Amino acid sequence: MAYRQSNRQYGAEGKLMVRYRSCSVMGCEDKFSSRHRFPNPANNLDLFQKWVLACGNEELINMPPEQIFRTKRVCHIHFKECDIGSNMLLNRGIVPSLFLPTITDEPRSTLATDNVVLILFRS
Ligand SMILES: [Zn+2]
Repeated sequence: MAYRQSNRQYGAEGKLMVRYRSCSVMGCEDKFSSRHRFPNPANNLDLFQKWVLACGNEELINMPPEQIFRTKRVCHIHFKECDIGSNMLLNRGIVPSLFLPTITDEPRSTLATDNVVLILFRS
């Protein structure tokens, strides 16, 4: 826990580096999209919990909601265009729905399966 989280960090040269916090969605390594805060658990715990589940990130499940709200972010790619209002704010009641790790409807294993077949075929 020696690592202190902060939006802006000064690099070794004293140059201001804008660094996005890592996205809370499991497996997401996006570093360029804008970030969205979690819904405030004090106002809408139900929606907040949907976000936590959508992220599929165990770390979040063991974390106090208040702390997630303060420190965690979800990146822009997990939202549909119609989820976002004109000022880049999320519309009410929106839950991240794209590029999520869940095994809900479409299994995303098609590509992986193809790769396996390809490897077997080559060897
Ligand atoms: Zn992300």
